[in-house]
Amino acid sequence: MDLFEYQGKQYFARYDIPVSKGDVAVTVDQAVAAADAAGYPVVVKAQVQVGGRGKAGGIKLANNADEVRTHAGNILGMDIKGHVVKRVWVENASDIAEEYYASFTLDRGAKKHLLMLSKEGGVEIEEVAATNPAAILMLHIDPVDGLSAAGALKAAVDAKIPEKAQQGVADILVKLYRCFVEGDCDLAEINPLILKPTGEVHALDAKVSLDANADFRHPEWEEFKATEELDAREKLAREKGLQYIGLDGTVGIIANGAGLAMSTLDVVNQVGGTAANFLDIGGGANADLMASALEVINSDKAVKSIFINIFGGITRGEEVAKGIVEALGRVDLRAPIVIRLDGTNAEEGRSILANAGIPESKLTSKPTMLEAAEAAVALAK
Ligand code: GDP
Ligand code: MN
Repeated sequence: MDLFEYQGKQYFARYDIPVSKGDVAVTVDQAVAAADAAGYPVVVKAQVQVGGRGKAGGIKLANNADEVRTHAGNILGMDIKGHVVKRVWVENASDIAEEYYASFTLDRGAKKHLLMLSKEGGVEIEEVAATNPAAILMLHIDPVDGLSAAGALKAAVDAKIPEKAQQGVADILVKLYRCFVEGDCDLAEINPLILKPTGEVHALDAKVSLDANADFRHPEWEEFKATEELDAREKLAREKGLQYIGLDGTVGIIANGAGLAMSTLDVVNQVGGTAANFLDIGGGANADLMASALEVINSDKAVKSIFINIFGGITRGEEVAKGIVEALGRVDLRAPIVIRLDGTNAEEGRSILANAGIPESKLTSKPTMLEAAEAAVALAK
């Protein structure tokens, strides 16, 4: 779950990471009140989950209430790369001497935490990685050992952070690491991490992504869920209680079991197609669930064909078939279905489908996963 900058900063503040005084606002009047409380000059910042807000006109400096009015009025409702601005964050403006970059993520391959630290902050880290990779320190941290104060200071030195800022950066690294681990983040990023002319080091931006698997031990995440921005497909899937992740391809996927769903994505990819989604209808899926799954897939305008891949164990073939027949009666599917139905009661399922009077242009059945993938990908082209 991705947080907005203002939520990320609130999260950082719990771990004692210094951030600017500010408040969130959904109206111009609220923005002015927030600015009055933060103290001028202030920065008015669009709250959207996309980078490069500054270049898009979503970050403005304001010296007085009138300027806040103008900027907040312009920014609220603005469209930044397809994200409509519903809130602004207004904070006391900082003087910047230098801009650095710091983040913690999980390196699954190495089975370790990864610190990325650079004295070249303020620009997208991908840009630094492309133009000047030597400017990024990548340090693996064994989760058993953690990051000590001495380790953090060494990292700051190794990243060639100027001496005057090393201790301040190291202090923040230790706090940010604690936030990353105890706060159950997938990503905790500060860009830019600034050095002020006064010598203090300070988080000017916050990018935090929380690990949804740790949800059960964070009742305080409720407030973040309230503002979570899902795409329309994901929202519908959640309402229907489906395990769905939206992707950008053209073959809609329904499978039973997460492992089979992932294999299905791979096979579609292997035969030259692209998946529009991941959707696991789980073990024991019934007709109603299948109908809901098809409705969600059908809501995705990019879908050109639908690949239903069922290997029945607990899931029974005739239930799957009934669900498809029911769904075809309930919704007018825009894309044709290719089904591979195998396992428990597959014969019964196939005969239900064959006798339902569904035209060949709407549904075809294939005996293997590979043949079904090929047929679905051909239809999507
Ligand atoms: P992003 O571009 O969407 O990641 O937004 P950031 O919050 O990182 O801000 C982008 C840039 O705006 C920063 O790198 C700064 O150069 C500038 N900026 C943001 N806040 C302030 C501030 O308080 N004072 C000054 N002088 N510049 C700021
Ligand atoms: Mn930034």
